[in-house]
Amino acid sequence: MARGLRPLAGALLLLEVAAALSFVHHRYEEMVQALFRVQSECPYVTRVYSIGRSVEGRHLYVLEFSDYPGIHEPLEPEFKYVGNMHGNEVLGRELLLQLSEFLCEEYRRGSERVTRLLHDTRIHIMPSMNPDGYEVAAKQGPDSIGYLTGRNNANGVDLNRNFPDLNTFMYYSGEISGPNHHIPLPDNWKSQVEPETLAVIQWIGSYNFVLSANLHGGAVVANYPYDKSQDQRFRSHRRTVNTPTPDDKLFQKLAKTYSYAHGWMHRGWNCGDYFADGITNGASWYSLSKGMQDFNYLYTNCFEITLELSCNKFPPEKDLERQWMANREALVAFIEEQREGLNPASTVSLQIHQGIKGMVSDENNNGIAGAVISVQGISHDVTSGDMGDYFRLLLPGTYTVTASAEGYQPQTVTTTVGPAEPSLVSQALPWGPGASKEQPNTFGR
Ligand SMILES: [Zn+2]
Repeated sequence: MARGLRPLAGALLLLEVAAALSFVHHRYEEMVQALFRVQSECPYVTRVYSIGRSVEGRHLYVLEFSDYPGIHEPLEPEFKYVGNMHGNEVLGRELLLQLSEFLCEEYRRGSERVTRLLHDTRIHIMPSMNPDGYEVAAKQGPDSIGYLTGRNNANGVDLNRNFPDLNTFMYYSGEISGPNHHIPLPDNWKSQVEPETLAVIQWIGSYNFVLSANLHGGAVVANYPYDKSQDQRFRSHRRTVNTPTPDDKLFQKLAKTYSYAHGWMHRGWNCGDYFADGITNGASWYSLSKGMQDFNYLYTNCFEITLELSCNKFPPEKDLERQWMANREALVAFIEEQREGLNPASTVSLQIHQGIKGMVSDENNNGIAGAVISVQGISHDVTSGDMGDYFRLLLPGTYTVTASAEGYQPQTVTTTVGPAEPSLVSQALPWGPGASKEQPNTFGR
């Protein structure tokens, strides 16, 4: 019997190949089918899950790639891509479907680069954060589209203006030196956000994401925080004021990784506008309140940038293949930003994959969740995840890093993030105020 089945299995494989994703726009049902098809083609390295439902009840699906889908492995960073937050900005949605199929096919082909990526990173891909808005835009189609039709969710709300405003708290209640990390949410926040926003906030609160991008259209530029201008006196001007985060140089490098790996973003002149190196601080372009990327930075450990990928928000299908070819390397290279080692395929001469990661543990080697990792000179702390592991993206340099947790003695180490080597900095925190002052354990660099 088994022998008789073999030709049939071969025929099924051929059918799967024949059903490969083509360069067309995917309505909701088609998008869902495409995600589950990738899951069935690469069952051992993928998982599909939903983080909740839209106003009209559509699932907000995520496709996860990992060598252990569904499981966080200590010291393995979590990465995410979010597309189609504005329902009428559809290129990101199609690019993320293409990327999903590409990762699966490359993995099946035995590609060393993608296999390594899936082994040392857990990748979460959400092609559409606003499936309701997309259906409104898609009904009109690419050609007759109104500029804003389908941008908002089904309640008419712009999801990238719907996150709790943590910037104002930081800018005005604590002055510039106030806290700019893990800012608490206002008490009534749940009643003030849309279902899609609520689902995303709960999602990013339950995974310890390290790096992220959200994909838009209407311009071609890699935009990094802050989006909200600090100086509101200039709000009536078209150009507002550059408002950097404490991680400004790192964010510039992350944005350049995308723009220089992209077919033409780095050239700067696109869609009648100019951005040097194809990147911009959000606030210096135009100030935006309650956006998602600032929220990621101020509420979680995640560094998010916003990618504007096409002048035409709803490009015709004949453009999709060219767009995929222009973005493919950039989409992969950006994921690799959080990983150790050099990227041989990168066109950027900058060193990439830099930072430190490690375990914070007690003297019995039990991981400590929620420990605070501070880097001297950069007033933006990160915290350890449930298993005590932490990730801190940093440019090359020498840093003094302190780990602290309630009930433990803080520990400080000095570490060098080299141009081509990762640093693994693990810290054991002696218990209680009377603990000994022995040197912390430091492994590798
Ligand atoms: Zn947008």
